Amino acid sequence: MRLFQRTIHDLHQMLVDREISSAELTESVLAQIEAVGEKTRAYLLVTRDLALRQAKAADERLKRKRDVAPLTGIPIALKDVLCVKDVTSTAGSKILKGFLPPYSATVVERLEADGAVFLGKTNCDEFAMGSSNENSGYWPVHNPWALDRVPGGSSGGSAAAVASGEAIAALGSDTGGSIRQPAALTGIVGMKPTYGRVSRYGLIAFASSLDQIGPMTRDVVDCAVLLQAVAGHDRRDSTSSQRPVPDYLATLRNGVKGMKLGVPKEYFVAGMEPAVEQSIRDAIGLFEQQGASIEEVSLPHSDVALPAYYIIAPAEASSNLARYDGTRYGFQAGSGRNLIDEYMQTREEGFGAEVKRRIMLGTYALSAGYYDAYYLQAQKVRTLIIEDFKRAFTRVDALLGATSPTVAFPLGAKTQDPVAMYLNDIITIPANLGNVCGVSVPCGLVDGLPIGLQIIAPGFREEVALRVAYAFEAATEFHKAQSPLLGAAA
Ligand code: GLN
Repeated sequence: MRLFQRTIHDLHQMLVDREISSAELTESVLAQIEAVGEKTRAYLLVTRDLALRQAKAADERLKRKRDVAPLTGIPIALKDVLCVKDVTSTAGSKILKGFLPPYSATVVERLEADGAVFLGKTNCDEFAMGSSNENSGYWPVHNPWALDRVPGGSSGGSAAAVASGEAIAALGSDTGGSIRQPAALTGIVGMKPTYGRVSRYGLIAFASSLDQIGPMTRDVVDCAVLLQAVAGHDRRDSTSSQRPVPDYLATLRNGVKGMKLGVPKEYFVAGMEPAVEQSIRDAIGLFEQQGASIEEVSLPHSDVALPAYYIIAPAEASSNLARYDGTRYGFQAGSGRNLIDEYMQTREEGFGAEVKRRIMLGTYALSAGYYDAYYLQAQKVRTLIIEDFKRAFTRVDALLGATSPTVAFPLGAKTQDPVAMYLNDIITIPANLGNVCGVSVPCGLVDGLPIGLQIIAPGFREEVALRVAYAFEAATEFHKAQSPLLGAAA
């Protein structure tokens, strides 16, 4: 096995045993980026010099056996919505072209403090709006399993990087599914923590009441390790929770025996591909064999989650994106006749079509006379969805379903039809609206394309979701399947 094909926990042991150095490991991953980067186009920016410098510093720590953390010396990719001080951060948008943040996101600082190595900024849908990465202001990302297909979105660059060996792990962000859906479509593990579990300070905002940063990794142990490193209260994010962070590895291997797992009947949506449904049913059977009891549950408001999301998320986005006017960050058109004209030119040229569509939807939903009919109504629906989850979790410990109703689709297949595109997130969006957490794990392949199983646990019970995910992973081989770009290098 080549170094870039391994997991965090595996590499950590090799680093601690001084079998390899972080410099060697980082070179191995950088060489893989060189080899396949033109195929996946996963990165917007590769920070080669920074990575090698950090690797060297990590090797010092490892040599002295001082301040060695599970991520010391591990090469990690960062979605471009995460600010890194003095490193171009654009959120996949032309309007932030050349923007150098004056500070780093809290998650970035925490990884830095642990001695992680930053490979660069990964491609994503513009301001994280999308499900296929085709809304990137720069270029689309290609799925390492089939280059003519999408990797999912909006964290498609992070997903493709992990699935192709261009990173050992990555951070993404999930507002309506953007970690879990691309994880499912590229055969990796991806977790959306509960809102408030991970600080959003320094995350370029899309929809502030829904956004969460989370791990994208090759297996569940790595997911727990990466979550552990970034979770916890941050006084700079007033919405981050003060609750103590449990030791995620401590309960990971406890198994599902005696657990109650619910299967929401609404999650078998119309249009779900038969092979996806079959894999999920097989996974449910496997949990039963492992001693979990399975119960059908109902989340009756699931069908209105998508419409509510497409009011709430654009409303918040329209407000968050008002700050990009060319006078403060990144791109400025420089051709306006006066200040207002300059704002308009900058926004006209700087934003892509999907971002403009959301700004218009959101502005409309918030406008006088329509606020009650749309925004307020959507907030009421959100409350019903929160209650649906609460009710279900009085009966079961966690919920099981598909992550995405389909496997990765061809590039261009849905770009002309925004509603078809929005439907990709029909079973991931409820977890964001419902303030719960969810993880996607590989659960099969159909025609060489990965399928994801979604496990949802109550708010701040990430350890439960991870424990169920690990039980599945330990009993199956699905997570070991490697994309042609990753496996061919063996
Ligand atoms: N696909 C959804 C959207 O376009 C979710 C995106 C996300 O989670 N960032 O809004």
